Amino acid sequence: MTEPVRVRFAPSPTGHPHVGNIRTAMFNWLFARHTGGKFILRIEDTDVARRVEGAVESIMDGLRWLGLDWDEGPGVGGDYGPYFQSQRLELYRRAAESLLAQGNAYCCYCSPERLEEMRKEQARLKQPPGYDRLCRGLSAEERAEKEAEGITPVVRFRVPLDGETIFDDLIWGTVVFENSTLDDFVLLKSDGYPTYHLANVVDDNAMEISHVIRAEEWISSTPRHLLLYQALGLEPPQFVHHPMILGPDRAKLSKRHGAVSITEYREHGYLPETMFNFLALIGWSLDDKTELMTRQELIDNFSLSRIGKTGAIFNRDKLDWMNGVYIRRLSTDDFTRQGLPFLDRGLPPEVKRPLSVDYVKEIMPLVQERAKTLAELPGLVDFFFVDELHYDVNLLLPKEMSRERVAEALEISRQRMDKGGPFDNESLEALFRSLAEELGVKTGQLFGALRGAVTGRKASPPLFQTMAVLGRERCQKRIQSALHKLSE
Ligand code: GLU
Repeated sequence: MTEPVRVRFAPSPTGHPHVGNIRTAMFNWLFARHTGGKFILRIEDTDVARRVEGAVESIMDGLRWLGLDWDEGPGVGGDYGPYFQSQRLELYRRAAESLLAQGNAYCCYCSPERLEEMRKEQARLKQPPGYDRLCRGLSAEERAEKEAEGITPVVRFRVPLDGETIFDDLIWGTVVFENSTLDDFVLLKSDGYPTYHLANVVDDNAMEISHVIRAEEWISSTPRHLLLYQALGLEPPQFVHHPMILGPDRAKLSKRHGAVSITEYREHGYLPETMFNFLALIGWSLDDKTELMTRQELIDNFSLSRIGKTGAIFNRDKLDWMNGVYIRRLSTDDFTRQGLPFLDRGLPPEVKRPLSVDYVKEIMPLVQERAKTLAELPGLVDFFFVDELHYDVNLLLPKEMSRERVAEALEISRQRMDKGGPFDNESLEALFRSLAEELGVKTGQLFGALRGAVTGRKASPPLFQTMAVLGRERCQKRIQSALHKLSE
């Protein structure tokens, strides 16, 4: 019987979650859901100096927003907890002690100053950086002396000086590292906290992780981890190192390429459905051509074997296109619900709050075809909410139409609207088409002047639908103001 799939996402809480990390979480989650395994969230918070207040919440919010639910971890519990490494220090200390006892680790008393000097010297001589193993050969007496001086040591792993560490990666195939290229890395710091390497190995084992699916940038840590598994007499998991997300210049996606945290994409008005689909298809594909896949389709079809070998580029244009597609797929109710907070935040302060949900619901279908993000909404629909429009008078003047003719056309338009009768899309269109004919102007000219007057802009949602939503009274008032502008 093959062992059950147990995979983990193991973020360090150092800030808002990077989309690259979230994609790692997603590959793990998809693999767990596809195989009926477990997805575990473990917080790797042993680097006290890099810990950021609120980061754990932000990571969990990001995961929840995308629907990446975890079967074990913070807030959920599980049989392998606690799921914060800072609450598991005893386990790491015990592992370090057993390694010390077997001679697979040793205490190092080198001061930070000495290590700094060593690093500088190595840099000067263009040697690879790494601990020079000064303390590796200390005798029991020498150690006792150091202890008597009151120096708290770090614990370092005694890396074999020769030989190779070899592993099979599901993506990379056989990977070989010469042990001589590895230095005696730290396991326990002098503050008693473990390093990433020790804690990661101890926990992946204790939590019975079957597959470690993580970004390629960790591949150089893997030989260290394997040496640790070996020294501790533990069975290592299967390793899967997936390529990184790249910017358009093929460098690792970073701040200089624009937004990188999932939180930012959420704030910029991308839908979770979009981000889910988009991120899953960076570096993984069904068949190299299918772009739109639902969550269920992704679960059903996900396989580690279709993760590509080369880094994949984060394509902003594709993201925008995809978000447009998912926005158009929303029901009016959903679009309203998701759009409301953006309107609330983005509309000018003078607009009365709370916004009327019913009114917003009338407006949203008019921009659903055009919106690429929810954050664009306030800019697309603000004229539905404000009392005064601010625009340049030239906006009212279509090509080849004099100011007087425009004034005349708008005045007659206003009067015709007075007549009562239905004020809906079809009636308005019929009314103004025949008026254009009557006045002997092109429909484009009349509609352009009307659009300028009622929306204060050159491009707007469909004119007559817009007018119908604004209502007779407001349209007339706006035309009145336009006439006033024209007469100035
Ligand atoms: N804590 C590491 C991180 O921040 C985990 C890497 C791993 O998955 O082993 O990504």
